[in-house]
Amino acid sequence: MSEHGVDGLNSIERLDKEHVFGTWAFQSEVTPTEIVDADGVRFTDADGQSFIDFSGQLMCSNLGHSATKVSDAIAEQAEDVPYVAPNYTTEARARLGEKLAEVTPGDLSKTFFSTSGTEAVEAAIKIAKFYTGKDKIVSRYRSYHGATYGSISVTGDPRRLASEPSMPGAIKAPDPYAYGSTLDPMESLEYIDEMLMLEGDTVAAILVEPIVGSNGILVPPDEYLPRLKEIAHDHGALLICDEVMAGFGRTGEWFGSDVYDVTPDIMTMAKGLTGAYQPLGATIVTPEIAAHFEDNMLTHGHTYAGHPVACAAGLAAIETYQEENLIERASEIGEYLGERIDGLAADHPSVGETRGVGLFRGIELTKSTEERVPFGAREDKVSKGSTVVDEVSSTAYEHGTYVANMINTLIIAPPLTITEDEIDEAIEALDVALEVSDDAMDA
Ligand code: PMP
Repeated sequence: MSEHGVDGLNSIERLDKEHVFGTWAFQSEVTPTEIVDADGVRFTDADGQSFIDFSGQLMCSNLGHSATKVSDAIAEQAEDVPYVAPNYTTEARARLGEKLAEVTPGDLSKTFFSTSGTEAVEAAIKIAKFYTGKDKIVSRYRSYHGATYGSISVTGDPRRLASEPSMPGAIKAPDPYAYGSTLDPMESLEYIDEMLMLEGDTVAAILVEPIVGSNGILVPPDEYLPRLKEIAHDHGALLICDEVMAGFGRTGEWFGSDVYDVTPDIMTMAKGLTGAYQPLGATIVTPEIAAHFEDNMLTHGHTYAGHPVACAAGLAAIETYQEENLIERASEIGEYLGERIDGLAADHPSVGETRGVGLFRGIELTKSTEERVPFGAREDKVSKGSTVVDEVSSTAYEHGTYVANMINTLIIAPPLTITEDEIDEAIEALDVALEVSDDAMDA
C-alpha cells in the first residue's frame, strides 16, 4: 500500500507528474495513476485496487495482459538479437511480413514497418503520394489518424485544431453518422464522389477508418465501404483503410475491412498487431503498389523500422490470435456484449444510441434523447474540465471498471479473452455509472 499526499498522489505518481508530460492534456489536470500489475482482463493500481479493462487500455490490449507466448517471444528475441539496422533482417521480421500477407484481406502482400499507428499512417500517406504522383488526401471529419503533422492533418476531430494550418492537400469529407449528422451515410458518399470530381485529378487517396473508432464507433451500412472504394478508383485515387483500432479481431473479423469484404489498396495497423506488448506499426500494400518502388526509391524509413523485438511480439501475437481462435471468440462473445449493452440502453434514458460489432462497441449519451442533444460539444474535448461523459467514466472506475470515452461516446473494446462473467461485472458498474448521465439530462 503506498502513501498518498495531500495532492492525492503517491511518491511515484508525483515524480511522474513533475518530470513526464501527460499526453493530450492540460498538465495541471494530469493525475497519473501508478499501475503495478496486470493479469488477464484486469489491472491493479499501487493501492491494490483492481479494475476490469473494459476498453483494452487505448483499445489496443486485444490479447489481455497475460499473453505469455508474446512476452516469452519478446524476452527470447531481446536475448538473441535485440536490434539490427533495417538493412539487415531477422527471422521475426521476415515471418511477420509473411504472416501479415496471410491474414490481411485479398492480395495485400508487402509491409513497411514502423513503431506506431501514427507512423503507419504517415507511411501510407507518403506511399499513396509517391505511387499516384498526386498530393491530396481526402479523409473525414469524425476521424483520428495520428499525432504527427501529416497524420494530424488528415485527422478530422478537434485534436487537429491546435496543429493547423495543416499539411497542404488534406481535405475533409462528411461521415457515415446516421445518428448525429443531417446527411444519410449513403448520401454522404455521393457528396464525396462529387468532391473528387471537383478536385480534378489531384487526389492521391481516400483515407478512412472502416469502422470509426475513437470518434464514436460509427458503423457504416454494408454497401458503404465497397461503394467508397469504387468512388476512389473511378477518380484514380487509392483507398487507404486505417485499421489501427479496428484491426486484429476487434470486430469479430481479422480487420474492419473484412466486415465489408473490401480489400483496400493500402492498410495501416498497430495496436492489436502486438496486442500492445511492443510498439509496432505496419503499412501493407498491394503487389502493384509494391512493384512501383522497384525502380522508384521508397524515400522513407526509421531507425526502428522492423525492430526485431517488436516483430517477434507481432508474430507471437498473431500466432496467439490463430491458436486460441480469438477472432471467432470475439465474434461470439461480442454478441453477448451487444445484448448486455442494449439491455443497459433500455434502462437508461440518457443512452441515445448503441452501436458496434464484435468487441468494438459504443454507447452514445445524450442530454435529450428526442432531439439528440449531445452532453458536450465536440470542441469540449480541447477545453479544461471534465464533461458529464467523463464523469460517467470516473464513476464506472470507482466501481471497478475502466471505460474510455471520446466526446459523447463510451468506448467499449475489452481484450478478446474477456468472459461472460467479466462482461457482467463491468455492465454492473456501467449500470451505476449511467445514473450520472441520466441525472444530468435536460428536464
Ligand atoms: N489511427 C487510428 C484509427 C487510431 O485509433 C489511432 C490511435 N488511437 C492512430 C491512428 C494513431 O496511433 P498511435 O497512437 O499508435 O500513434
